[in-house]
Amino acid sequence: MDSILINSPRVGNGYDVHALKERLPMRLCGVDIPSDKGFVAHSVGDVAIHALCDALLGAAALGDIGLHFPDSDPRYKGIDSTKLLSEVVAMLSGEEANKYSICNVDITIALQEPKLRPYIDTMRETLAGIMNIGKDQVSVKATTTERLGFVGRGEGCEVWASAVIVPNNEYQY
Ligand code: MG
Repeated sequence: MDSILINSPRVGNGYDVHALKERLPMRLCGVDIPSDKGFVAHSVGDVAIHALCDALLGAAALGDIGLHFPDSDPRYKGIDSTKLLSEVVAMLSGEEANKYSICNVDITIALQEPKLRPYIDTMRETLAGIMNIGKDQVSVKATTTERLGFVGRGEGCEVWASAVIVPNNEYQY
């Protein structure tokens, strides 16, 4: 039997990695980043949004983006990652009994270059807009890996995301 504790917050985490390649677009958290490398991906490949979607879905125990938006489905070929996030948010706030509000999300992006600091504010605003929450509920952080590992060698980007959601209604099953 499923159970939802009354007003109990739920945490989810997400993780994703995309490889980097010359002359491909780089978009993170819905924001285009000027860079000579971009993400190798089936869709536009916003690795940060992919991790965030998995964190939100995980918090609601609704599977992962691979389940809802399979690579094999031509409908999702080249789809803007922001649309995936919109669909995930709609799933969480849907009409079914276990609908949720997003309390806050926190994203850590590991990327050697370029430096992301100039884009962090726009990223937070963009994600907040898509999720219909305040900018203060969205945290985006960036780090390098001190040139260590595949991230440090500029071969890829690694992202961790956390999300806390809370049931809107005092349902208990
Ligand atoms: Mg991905």
